[in-house]
Amino acid sequence: MAIRESMHQVGGGILDKILNAEDRGYRGTQIDCGQGHAAEFVEYRSKQVQTVLGPVAVERAYYCCRPCGRGLVSRDQELDIVGTGLSPGVRRMMGRVGSKESFQEGQQDLKQLAGLEVTAKQVERVSEQLGQQAESWRTKASPAGASPAVVALKAIPKFYIGYDGTGVPMVPGETEGRRGKQSPQAKTREAKLGCIFTQTTVDQQGQPVRDADSTSYVGAIETAEAFGVRIYAEAVRRGLHNAQLVIVLGDGAPWIWTIDDEHFPGALQIVDLYHARQHVAELAKLVLGSEWKPWAEARYRQLDEGKIESLLGALLRLKTPQPAVQAAIHKEIHYFQTNAERMRYGELRKRGLFVGSGVVEAGCKTIVGKPLKQSGMHWTLRGANAISALRCLDLSNLWEDFWESRRAS
Ligand SMILES: [Zn+2]
Repeated sequence: MAIRESMHQVGGGILDKILNAEDRGYRGTQIDCGQGHAAEFVEYRSKQVQTVLGPVAVERAYYCCRPCGRGLVSRDQELDIVGTGLSPGVRRMMGRVGSKESFQEGQQDLKQLAGLEVTAKQVERVSEQLGQQAESWRTKASPAGASPAVVALKAIPKFYIGYDGTGVPMVPGETEGRRGKQSPQAKTREAKLGCIFTQTTVDQQGQPVRDADSTSYVGAIETAEAFGVRIYAEAVRRGLHNAQLVIVLGDGAPWIWTIDDEHFPGALQIVDLYHARQHVAELAKLVLGSEWKPWAEARYRQLDEGKIESLLGALLRLKTPQPAVQAAIHKEIHYFQTNAERMRYGELRKRGLFVGSGVVEAGCKTIVGKPLKQSGMHWTLRGANAISALRCLDLSNLWEDFWESRRAS
């Protein structure tokens, strides 16, 4: 560690020399200010920049435009340090930890792993900023072309779109006027998540196999309508138009099928088996108490075979004197009736398709669970969306592309 420490110092010295060699952003005595005036060279000004090799003082040519009444330092643009004393390398590290753990933990990791001294507040601010930039970079990539990454040109046999939602704890101001499940004012807001992955083959047992590295994620706290546009754009980027079969895996929530009708008409809709089972288990516990298990397991078998009519029969035979429990039974009957055709799991499995991805569940946990739902955390809408944008970027293998695009601009 001591050697590394001194290597940092040596490196910092080299970086200092490179950055302050001949070109310090001097472009003659006058430059165009951008508004048609001539800005005059004034002097070289020094700026303290924190880099991955420690602090470096960077000399930059300072120009002044009198008509505009402002200073110009074009070197800051070139070095990507406009309005910040943190180098892009440092900010990149901050965004990395900030999207994965609490800002406090991130600050400690940076110190331990990289010898970087920053505050938790700085980690927060930089991560949010990067998250917002990542969001606009990703949404700018229009369905028409100009996408951030590869567009598949060959046919995709099976193209999956999975959805899920999960509550994110918010600061009180962000849930005003929204009712909670238990309280008059909600404490959380629903983050909507979507993932896309592809499948080409099945294994020797006939089980579906997800294509390696084929999963990408999008997510945000927003209306179903806005989210529909988001997931559609991602689907197009991933090669929706080359898909032979489009499959949508959802939890059965109506907003998902609404998005489908709008953006993915003709897609094969499947209720994620995991969610269907959850509905059975919750109802069984409510009606049968501690005796719930055998009954639920018999229903799971019916689900596995896709015998939804038999399952409905079992639901109809449930008896209870309590009106509230009766209402819950009716609700589930409605759920299984409405979604029956999306639950033919036996047939779907025979066709070698995924019926419960696990991918979306896992995504939910890593995108929202880990960084956003730790105890004591409360988010602003802006902050939560910025961090999930950053997290999705990473999980979709777009982190490098994002930084490349920054360098290119
Ligand atoms: Zn000017």
